[in-house]
Amino acid sequence: MTAKLIKGTDIGEEILQEITTETTQIKEKYGVVPGLVTILVGSNPASISYVTLKIKTAHRLGFQEVQDNQPADISEKDLLALIDRYNKDDSIHGILVQLPLPKHIDEKKVINAIDPDKDVDGFHPVNVGRLMIGGEEVKFPPCTPAGIQELIVRSGIETSGAEAVVVGRSNIVGKPIANMLIQRGKGADATVTIVHTKTKNLADHCKRADILIVAAGVPGLVKPEWIKPGACVIDVGVNRVGEKPSKNDPQKMVPILKGDVDFDAAKEIAGYITPVPGGVGPMTITMLMRNTLRSLKSRLGIQSGNS
Ligand code: NAP
Repeated sequence: MTAKLIKGTDIGEEILQEITTETTQIKEKYGVVPGLVTILVGSNPASISYVTLKIKTAHRLGFQEVQDNQPADISEKDLLALIDRYNKDDSIHGILVQLPLPKHIDEKKVINAIDPDKDVDGFHPVNVGRLMIGGEEVKFPPCTPAGIQELIVRSGIETSGAEAVVVGRSNIVGKPIANMLIQRGKGADATVTIVHTKTKNLADHCKRADILIVAAGVPGLVKPEWIKPGACVIDVGVNRVGEKPSKNDPQKMVPILKGDVDFDAAKEIAGYITPVPGGVGPMTITMLMRNTLRSLKSRLGIQSGNS
């Protein structure tokens, strides 16, 4: 293997420890801790496992965590009223509504109902706008793109002047990470191309990339010959391609996950590469926690800097 592995598990852990330290200091000085509420509607198994992990992490960091489970048939009106209650609750600094929501509820209306100053997912149009403006304006960078940027920065990869190519233009990954990389400053100042299903010569664009970020949701889409030797490859894709018996409990089946990049071949060409799982994945929850801490700090008038 020639590429250096960028481990989200290790970098995420490092950041969680920084958050724990800061949370303890704030608690000692101001007597408050970050408060995060996760609202889960219904009982989608994937959503339950995401929410459980978020709550567990918040608990571990010393946050006040509230898991608010609502039945699948809650009306849109009642859900909006619940959000309003948390908007007004001073002990809550971050509100997360686990998506997707049942079909009878308009997700856009729900996201728009969250106070932008508690929107730790960074999906509210006000926060999307703040991200677009960049610099001091940014309050809550969306979690997966923020995690990608941290992986790049903490691995010592130069972004200034780099050719970055982003495969995918979703609102939660492709567009925001591209936007973050074109801003001025640390972990940015790159020249960015976004490619998608209508792009001609996808391979040629990828071959130019010093930093290649792939968020398409297509297993093995990026072939090794599309990678510039020495490039930094960030594979955001998480694709279930089958099942296997669990290591700890062979009676239990667990999903086999693959990224959007042909990892085994790509690692012989790239300079840096993220594995799947264990690359971008663990960073998303870490950044959610950082945004919740940021929200409290902003309330207390403490500057956030890089944390
Ligand atoms: P999405 O909303 O489905 O968007 C996929 C994007 O990729 C679209 O813009 C699509 O282009 C583009 N695309 C798909 N196939 C392509 C192809 N053959 N060539 C070029 N472009 C192609 O997906 P997403 O929500 O951004 O997620 C992408 C992947 O990242 C998924 O595997 C998801 O599970 C994973 N993910 C991981 C995390 C995490 O690790 N924490 C978080 C979020 C997402 P068009 O716009 O033209 O259709």
